[in-house]
Amino acid sequence: MNIHEYQAKELLSKFGVAVPAGIPAMSVEEAVAAVGKLPGPLYVVKAQIHAGGRGKGKFKELGPDAKGGVRLARSEEEVRAAAQDMLGNTLVTIQTGPEGKEVNRLYVTDGVDIAREFYLALLVDRSTGRIAVVASTEGGMDIEEVAHSTPEKIHTITIDPATGLMPHHGRSVAAALELTGDLAKQAQRMLGKLYDAFLGTDASQIEINPLAVTKDDKLLVLDAKVGFDSNAMFRHPDLAELRDLSEEDPMEIEASKHDLAYIKLDGNIGCMVNGAGLAMATMDIIKLNGAFPANFLDVGGGASKEKVTAAFKIILSDPAVQGILVNIFGGIMRCDIIAEGIVEAAREVHLAVPLVVRLEGTNVEQGKAILAESGLPIVPANDLGDAAKKIVEQVKELEAA
Ligand code: GDP
Ligand code: MG
Repeated sequence: MNIHEYQAKELLSKFGVAVPAGIPAMSVEEAVAAVGKLPGPLYVVKAQIHAGGRGKGKFKELGPDAKGGVRLARSEEEVRAAAQDMLGNTLVTIQTGPEGKEVNRLYVTDGVDIAREFYLALLVDRSTGRIAVVASTEGGMDIEEVAHSTPEKIHTITIDPATGLMPHHGRSVAAALELTGDLAKQAQRMLGKLYDAFLGTDASQIEINPLAVTKDDKLLVLDAKVGFDSNAMFRHPDLAELRDLSEEDPMEIEASKHDLAYIKLDGNIGCMVNGAGLAMATMDIIKLNGAFPANFLDVGGGASKEKVTAAFKIILSDPAVQGILVNIFGGIMRCDIIAEGIVEAAREVHLAVPLVVRLEGTNVEQGKAILAESGLPIVPANDLGDAAKKIVEQVKELEAA
């Protein structure tokens, strides 16, 4: 689960991390009112979307010459103009994809005189099973680009969970950022607070880009992207409330209501499968047959009729879907019950695309009979290979017609 920059900064500041003063705004008037509450004379108006690259981004409605989603302002009028440009418009950045994201929230912050910009991130490094700190003097820009062209400028320091954060980690980070004296001490203190925040919130990443050194030698977080381990959110109801549903895929939200694991993908064959492993195998075999899955969908071990119906509706609400492959192993749930669910769901949603069903497991013969007797154009398949081949053929035939 990800949160907005303003939420991330408010959270980090609770852990004692230095951030510029700022006020979130949902309207132009709120943005203008923020000016009176900030010290000035420089303000920054920042579009709040769950994507980076806002500064260099472009608003669809404003044309190529207009400024991006992070703007410096020196007066109420400039803040008003920036807010009017951004609110309700669609910001396209390297991270949003070409469709962009509509801006509905702003963050008006105190403007900072920047001397240097660094990159600093804490994340879970799956290869070492540890929290890793990534530090680079090349901040403010696209870190992937730095990693690609000058990998030697990126330093990674892993933290052994048995010892936790040690003073030498802080010294290594300060050295990686080429900081000395008081700034090195500030970096060490900040790392300690970020580490506390990381553990205390079950974060999966805290990315600060840029971490700025101000002209008066203060270390300050100017941009923060924080994500949490979704599986730990039950321990943090206060953080779960920060979720912004408008930033998430509506179909994925609907799926989570029914406890379905659903992820939308780019292909045209909808998949309904029980068990994550079987779902992965189904997607692989669709690709092997020359087509692409439209989604990952795991209805879970005890796939009930209600879940099957909800899953059908979600798959079909994706206009890209031109065929559906159901691949269910009836272990906990019997195949005849699943077949009834499929038939009922197919009737209820007035299925208009080809449907291939492969059932296996307990009461499979009764299940197949129910599908055959339904009068619906359901194509039965004997095994996974047969099922994938049939659905790909059906969809290709439709495409050719
Ligand atoms: P991003 O483009 O989505 O990563 O948004 P950032 O918050 O990182 O802002 C992009 C850039 O705007 C930063 O790298 C800075 O160069 C600049 N910027 C952000 N805040 C300030 C500020 O307070 N003062 C100045 N002078 N520049 C800022
Ligand atoms: Mg940034």
